[in-house]
Amino acid sequence: MKNLIVASNNENKIKEIKEILKDLPLEIYSLKEKEIFIDVEEDGETFEENAFKKAREIYEVLKEKNEKDFIVMADDSGLEVDALNKRPGVYSARYAGEHGDSKKNNEKLLEELKGVPFENRGGEFVCHLALIDYYGKESSIEGRVKGKIIESIKGEDGFGYDPLFLIEELNKTFGEIKPEEKNTISHRGIALKELKKQIVKYL
Ligand code: IMP
Repeated sequence: MKNLIVASNNENKIKEIKEILKDLPLEIYSLKEKEIFIDVEEDGETFEENAFKKAREIYEVLKEKNEKDFIVMADDSGLEVDALNKRPGVYSARYAGEHGDSKKNNEKLLEELKGVPFENRGGEFVCHLALIDYYGKESSIEGRVKGKIIESIKGEDGFGYDPLFLIEELNKTFGEIKPEEKNTISHRGIALKELKKQIVKYL
């Protein structure tokens, strides 16, 4: 059976990927499970660049470890806000300085959007997936979801910018819906559904 190595140690991401791909003949591993302990610097200018940077570095490590019959997958995601010229974009995790400080990131976003009317507060979550198979064949997948950045946080679920990201059709933020519902409409969910379609070509 082919191995899918996910270039991440984020347990939630790995769980979600395993769930979506569960009926395919694939063994899915995190980096930790493959005893790979490198942290690739995400210094690219686009989500695609960052995803491929991670995938290519892990690909080289897997080759060195003499792994066979694998596919490596890496992702990068973030939030693009129309009124901010698509910022924070690739800087989403470290928008307010410290990596992964969601509270500060949300505060900074609200500060930058102060006075911007609702109709101009559009944004998009983006998730880019990079795939490389054992032979070096590369593929690229992108998932996007549109929403509005509201004026104060709403909801306890999710992570990152979720409580500020309103899905207008539901009149709820990503912070107000359960992960299973979010997965059916989110940028990551859309990209992973497409991954499921495309990965069949590799099997
Ligand atoms: P990464 O792709 O795991 O590096 O995520 C980058 C950053 O984008 C995260 O730290 C969050 O700030 C933001 N982000 C990405 N996806 C989501 C999401 O589904 N909800 C909220 N924030 C997200």
